[in-house]
Amino acid sequence: MSAAADVAGLKPAVSFLKTAENGAPYLAGSKCKKCGEVFVGTRDTCAKCFTRGQMDHIHLADTGRLYNFTVVHRNFPGVPVPFISVIVDLDGGGTLKGNLLDVEPDPAKIKFDMPVKVVYRNAGRKDKEGNGYFAYFFTPANKN
Ligand SMILES: [Zn+2]
Repeated sequence: MSAAADVAGLKPAVSFLKTAENGAPYLAGSKCKKCGEVFVGTRDTCAKCFTRGQMDHIHLADTGRLYNFTVVHRNFPGVPVPFISVIVDLDGGGTLKGNLLDVEPDPAKIKFDMPVKVVYRNAGRKDKEGNGYFAYFFTPANKN
């Protein structure tokens, strides 16, 4: 199944999550024309060199490397635990926090700097109007 089909009819859960005209989801980013720094989300001012109005709005990579992680064993009521919270440096720039799926929540099975890929899935929740949402997650790049 394509990524577009996985999220059809669902709304993005966060502002920097977008869908292309063909329905395929992507992570929106900004790249500074002056210094080249890449940021998650759409912005008009560079937080590194403070140049204004010189940001290219780009699609961030769907691949990256695991920078850090923690296995979460306690959370709000109703949130299934354990799960793996990670920080990923995307290839080409941008850093994101998210959850790593398809790996046993055992620190011995998780490697720093392991290649991961971004996947888009139903976030499993609905708002008061009954709208469903999709979110981004990470999986090991060597799976699927
Ligand atoms: Zn800059």
